[in-house]
Amino acid sequence: MSKEDLECSFCGRKKAETNLLIAGLDAHICDRCIEQAHGIVIEEALHSSSGELSKELMLKKPKSIKAFLDDYVIGQNQTKKIMSVAVYNHYKRLLQPATNDDIEIQKSNIIIVGQTGTGKTLVAKTIARMLNVPLAIVDATVLTEAGYVGEDVESILTRLLQAADYDLEKAQNGIVFIDEIDKIARKSDNPSITRDVSGEGVQQALLKLLEGTVVNVPPKGGRKHPDQKFIEVNTENILFIAGGAFDGIERHISKRLNMQAVGFSASKGEGKTDRGDMLQYIIPRDLKDFGLIPEIIGRLPVLAYMNPLDEAALRAILTEPKNAIIKQYKKLFEMDDIEMIITEEALDYIVEKAVEYKLGARGLRSLCEAVLTDAMFDLPGTDQKELHIDDAYVADKLNKSTIKKLKAVS
Ligand code: ADP
Repeated sequence: MSKEDLECSFCGRKKAETNLLIAGLDAHICDRCIEQAHGIVIEEALHSSSGELSKELMLKKPKSIKAFLDDYVIGQNQTKKIMSVAVYNHYKRLLQPATNDDIEIQKSNIIIVGQTGTGKTLVAKTIARMLNVPLAIVDATVLTEAGYVGEDVESILTRLLQAADYDLEKAQNGIVFIDEIDKIARKSDNPSITRDVSGEGVQQALLKLLEGTVVNVPPKGGRKHPDQKFIEVNTENILFIAGGAFDGIERHISKRLNMQAVGFSASKGEGKTDRGDMLQYIIPRDLKDFGLIPEIIGRLPVLAYMNPLDEAALRAILTEPKNAIIKQYKKLFEMDDIEMIITEEALDYIVEKAVEYKLGARGLRSLCEAVLTDAMFDLPGTDQKELHIDDAYVADKLNKSTIKKLKAVS
């Protein structure tokens, strides 16, 4: 056969009609067919290993994941960077084509250490939103060893199934945020004193889940529906993010760093920054000293920390995130054709009070609510089209409100 007579074995085009014709053993393939086949391979990879994951997701690089987080989460730069890489690697792992080199990429489950209200849940929520995967938020404190009062660890997966509207495929690619993981730390250094059904026992039960296993999950949860059919959920591709305040962990860190926590804090003057300063040195061993078993720590290989939020961060949280609290209120008023104008001083005042009452980021919302409730009640339906809020307005409303009582419980 002359060179000119050669044709693509897939589409039948003659060599002259192609840009490139590649020869195999007994066949030829043209450039167009290669491109098409490549497309099919990508489609298949997306379909078989990751179900609903979009193409867009596959192409999202760590930098764009971080940029997305930046839109919603203020500060916490180091953590956002660590998490972006972990999430990227996690989904890369799901998309890896089956190869026969023996390198199996392991899960990059994450553990975040940081005081309550510093954005741990927010980060998990934002990532789930970005990836468009279901998210279950569970509290480790309600979990107990099977057979004891409380919830079995499988209930975590029931929640995830519910979040995925019982779409098994989606659930198996979802994210689970386990809050208050520090509360299931071993209660004492001596594990044999009493049976520790809500501490170490739960940690043991969690191990398999974190690593990847097939679990029989009661779809309606709990022990109340004994007749329901179990659903088999494979946890291999579920990303687990654990979070906890780990109160007092700075003592373990400083002890390890061979520094007296007391002396350190005295020289620094202020306890709060002290904790933040310390957390940056956290390593997995500190979690072990705190009471997490080494096997759990091993299955949460990505360790991140959240800094305590200072005044500047709180101020930014009020107005900067894409769905910032102030933007939300403005929108609410807009729906009634009312323009809400709030001065810089008023915003500063709200932040000052959040700090004074030790309410943190969560308190910002309650403070705004206290300031704006009257206006939200009175203005709709009237002729007033503008609402001006300055610091005097804020002070007046807060003085009249019961918000100060929150101070006592914090
Ligand atoms: P945690 O899980 O650490 O206890 P959350 O993520 O639930 O804290 O934070 C509570 C609320 O505070 C969030 O809904 C968010 O409005 C706000 N918040 C906390 N930290 C941040 C942050 N770094 N950036 C923006 N908002 C934040």
